[in-house]
Amino acid sequence: MKFAVLQLTGCAGCEVSLLNGGDQLDLGALSYMPLLISADEIPDVDLLLVTGGIRNDEDLFKLRRTAAKVKKIVAVGTCAISGGITGLGDNDEVRQLFFAKAHRATVPPMLPQCGPIADEVDVALYLPGCPPTPELFVGLLRDDITLKTGSIVCKECGRKKTKEIRPTKLKPLVEPSLDPDLCLVKQGQLCVGSSTRNGCGAPCTKAGFPCVGCRGPSNNLIEKDADAWFAAVRHVFERLTDIPSEEIDQALKSPHLSLFLFQFSDYDSSSDDENTTRPRDKVI
Ligand code: SF4
Ligand code: SF4
Repeated sequence: MKFAVLQLTGCAGCEVSLLNGGDQLDLGALSYMPLLISADEIPDVDLLLVTGGIRNDEDLFKLRRTAAKVKKIVAVGTCAISGGITGLGDNDEVRQLFFAKAHRATVPPMLPQCGPIADEVDVALYLPGCPPTPELFVGLLRDDITLKTGSIVCKECGRKKTKEIRPTKLKPLVEPSLDPDLCLVKQGQLCVGSSTRNGCGAPCTKAGFPCVGCRGPSNNLIEKDADAWFAAVRHVFERLTDIPSEEIDQALKSPHLSLFLFQFSDYDSSSDDENTTRPRDKVI
């Protein structure tokens, strides 16, 4: 199966993660990916992975032109799915900085708002993550039907939720003296793994950093709105800790979490029609 990677505005982290799939990938089937293989025109392919957000009119032009000649499109990573870091350019302060620099360099005109690629083209599948892990890329490209996600990161984390321990305060994001076996919530860390889609193998929590939700919501939450997601996280903290809810609410609004948490929040339950594919059936 021939495939290509169309890189819109992003950090190239998704491409690096894909390449980290190493020997498990058939790179002979890759016909275009600017980080590795360039061409004037993207060749006809069966599968197009799109990374990055639609930040400027060059992104929009490339996406529309390429989509017309491929069979299937996968939106890869937070930027292609919901804007991600490229969405930060919607912020007035960032825009002013950009435009000031733009006077000194020739850059493609920035669009007023960064949108998900699904606003422009038909997306067959979504592969969330910032970036998705190499294993997820390998599973996608091998069309691995055993690739099961949709549950929560806690299932892959393995840290224990000991009943007797109930923290009363949130701790900073980076904490040097953590218990390696105890759930990070039980150590006062704002870990959102209990609401986040699994499949990544929990590399962050295993390394001692709280999950920030880069895989987006689990299947239980994916077709619900942001309020339901907030309520689910708040409920976990009420059950496991004595940290005041206001402190949790405040911390959940931090910029680094808001980049990831509301991917798919434009979905709703309108797909109750049995002939319509439910959003969660399109997410790996
Ligand atoms: S809440 Fe976080 S640290 Fe605790 S078990 Fe879940 S993923 Fe692991
Ligand atoms: S543990 Fe959380 S933040 Fe880390 S890769 Fe998995 S979903 Fe993303």
